[in-house]
Amino acid sequence: MTSHAALPRLLFATMLSLAAGCGGDDTIETARPGQESALAVVREVFAGVLDEASMSPVALSIQWSGHVCPYPAADGLLKTAVIDPRGTCYAGLAHGCDLQVAWRGSFAQSAFAHELMHCYMSQLDLTDPSHDRHPEMWRAVSDANRALREAGL
Ligand SMILES: [Zn+2]
Repeated sequence: MTSHAALPRLLFATMLSLAAGCGGDDTIETARPGQESALAVVREVFAGVLDEASMSPVALSIQWSGHVCPYPAADGLLKTAVIDPRGTCYAGLAHGCDLQVAWRGSFAQSAFAHELMHCYMSQLDLTDPSHDRHPEMWRAVSDANRALREAGL
């Protein structure tokens, strides 16, 4: 017999399992095929604005999200996203070099280079959450995405 007290727990467990299952087998991954090559392409471009030390974090962790955001992005499309505990969707999030990135079909289309830049900037004790303090860094991100596209990544 199910007590009333157990019901919310049961509902919560059901919601959790639904959330875990909604993206099939591609919800969270720690590496994508070609990731090492993509990282090399990005680092080569970033070498124009960053030194080797800042691009060598002690611990770099990348988690790929395949979850689809429940509400449309600015362009009206439903996209994969990193969804924070409050339900807000992001293309990616960086906590230092602990990165979460939504997989959007290629490295160039995903916020891979962008979140890597946040990581490398954190190595230099630079923060730029609104992306307006270091324009040369964000130009390098655009250049890296172009290089990734040209490399078919
Ligand atoms: Zn950012």
